[in-house]
Amino acid sequence: MHWGKIVVFVLGLWLAASAPVWAQESPVLIQGAMDIEVRTLVERLEEPQAVVIDGWTYWQGYIGSQQVVVSQTKVGTTNAAAATLLGIQRFSPAVIINQGTAGGYPAWLHRGDLIIGATITNAGAVNAARREAGQGLEVREWSVRDEFGPVRWRSDARLVRLAEALKEVYPQGRVHTGTIFSSDRWSRELDYIAYWQKQENALGEEMEAAASAQIAAAYQIPYLCVRVVSNNEAAQEPWEPAKAERLASGCQEYILRLVAALQIR
Ligand code: SAH
Repeated sequence: MHWGKIVVFVLGLWLAASAPVWAQESPVLIQGAMDIEVRTLVERLEEPQAVVIDGWTYWQGYIGSQQVVVSQTKVGTTNAAAATLLGIQRFSPAVIINQGTAGGYPAWLHRGDLIIGATITNAGAVNAARREAGQGLEVREWSVRDEFGPVRWRSDARLVRLAEALKEVYPQGRVHTGTIFSSDRWSRELDYIAYWQKQENALGEEMEAAASAQIAAAYQIPYLCVRVVSNNEAAQEPWEPAKAERLASGCQEYILRLVAALQIR
């Protein structure tokens, strides 16, 4: 083989290997539970078109040349699972991004900081040890169980790297990669929080990511979870609606940058 041909061949291999799976016609599905977690995204969509499927709202449009569908999942795991399944069936997304607010666990994590959820753990999937009547509750005897199926999900490693690469341009706080603890629970007991922080390495909790991650995994769709800390019990930083709204909007700005970064790859 001539050197020229070898170079072209190697270059071709390299391009094929580096071409991201999401560089295709299919849209990026971006999820948020509450109104404040999708509003900024919807405002930025070009040619937006709202589609309501069985009570769940999706907005189709473009961010630059990238097709995007913004999905309001509504709050909680069951809503998130339904919205993800309906979204996949209707729009066949190439990528699913679940984003929004979260409660921070470690006291050093502050409102405005971002958590890139490399791992998402189903916080409802716990086994308790037996205790007799009158012996009370002991969270520290609980453990996450996976005997009935997987309960830990992974964000796509390339999407995590891409999200991490944008940390320099995130103005609201610092960016950390770690575990999101996910279930229909709002925790305010510091012992509970400290236990799961240690036991599961959890950086924070929210109510949708595990459910949508599980459905995305069933369809083998690359998935990413990014959450902004909107409250932190250990740091004495409560949920304040106006502040949460601002932070949620900043999280969506980050996702918009991420989508722009997807396009230029
Ligand atoms: N307390 C708020 C409502 C938040 S409802 C209010 O009064 O308006 C819970 C939503 O916020 C869920 O979508 C969840 O993903 C997210 N969330 C933010 N912080 C959370 C926390 N500390 N625990 C659980 N979910 C949290």
